[in-house]
Amino acid sequence: MNEKNIYIVRCGEVALKGMNKPYFERVLLERVRGVLTSYENTESKWNDGLMIVKIPKEIDREDVIRRVSKVFGVASVSPAVEAEKDIEKIGEAAAEFMMELIEKEGIKTFKVKGKRADKTFPIQSPEIGRIVGAKILKTCKVLSVDVHNPDCELYVDVRREGTYIFRDKIKGFGGLPLGTNGKGLILMSGGIDSPVAAFMMAKRGMRIEAVHFHSYPYTSPRAQQKVEDLCATLAGYMGTIRMHVVNLLPIQEEIVKNCPEEETTLLVRRFMMRIAESIAVRKKDMMLITGEDLGQVASQTAEALVVTDSVVKMPVMRPLIAMDKVDIMDKAKEIGTYDISIQPYEDCCTVFLPKHPVTKPKLSKIEKSEEALDVEALVIAAVDSAEVIDITPR
Ligand code: ATP
Ligand code: MG
Repeated sequence: MNEKNIYIVRCGEVALKGMNKPYFERVLLERVRGVLTSYENTESKWNDGLMIVKIPKEIDREDVIRRVSKVFGVASVSPAVEAEKDIEKIGEAAAEFMMELIEKEGIKTFKVKGKRADKTFPIQSPEIGRIVGAKILKTCKVLSVDVHNPDCELYVDVRREGTYIFRDKIKGFGGLPLGTNGKGLILMSGGIDSPVAAFMMAKRGMRIEAVHFHSYPYTSPRAQQKVEDLCATLAGYMGTIRMHVVNLLPIQEEIVKNCPEEETTLLVRRFMMRIAESIAVRKKDMMLITGEDLGQVASQTAEALVVTDSVVKMPVMRPLIAMDKVDIMDKAKEIGTYDISIQPYEDCCTVFLPKHPVTKPKLSKIEKSEEALDVEALVIAAVDSAEVIDITPR
């Protein structure tokens, strides 16, 4: 019929935006175009609240769908066909569409749902369904109608600028287009939690940079490679990620030498926060993000979080705070970071792990312990020695 395949892209929350809707729609369109730039000769535009994407037929449908459904702000994608706005032509195109499905999937029953968004079209929604259904029955002899439990539910959408016939809705992640909600610096370990935390904030439109702490030579270069692999996977959703890499060993050694052993983890975490904040303040509107989860480990009890949080002024986002570990693990599997996270490389936190970490720390006592350290100088030295790597999608 034409040399391009059509895809209908639906936005989720973007549609609920009031005055700002044109802005969100414009950014979402840019993001979708962004993931399709390597294909030539594509067209994408908004049409009455739906995004219509046209891509040359020779491009693999699966690949297009995989790319588009990863764009934040996209609620679902459907491969579709376009028909002329004439009920005869619509019936023919629908029958042709069904023939393909019979061939590919052996479907036997169907149901048509007509929708008339263009009120100038003379036939009403239920009638569109009936006429198109009758045409399909006539052309595709093996099919019968089942209104309750059909193998295929076919949608016929008559809109102002065209008529679209489609079936599957492949779910996207929803959320808001990247770049519409500030910037965040994720404290990225090689664990399961922090990549999920980064993903969740990016899904709300936040641009992400990362900071990773290691204790080389106590931690291996392979441990850092694992974090780079995690960032590369995340970059598949949010584009190139800038990663700041900091060696924490000099600070850990100072803490071990001068402070009570049971406080080591907490003192190290307070330094991580300070260093992260000092990297983040150099950018406008940045916040910090961590993968902390209430009660998961000794350093994440309510009391410990008070002590960690009090060291920075900047807002700290903890998107996983109330989630159960199993749900975080499921999310990690869904976004493709889980298998990387479970590779057994050591984290800097585990290098000087105290035997009995404090679980109910007192802020005043921790602050007292820090008096033995030149906190400011240690932070400045760490920030100055940070390495910066840009990690591209994989
Ligand atoms: P994760 O699975 O994200 O490692 P976790 O359950 O192992 O989390 P912790 O090791 O206590 O918990 O770390 C809590 C949070 O502190 C992490 O989610 C991350 O945001 C940050 N963090 C921990 N280790 C590092 C590191 N080496 N570099 C950067 N951030 C870190
Ligand atoms: Mg960890």
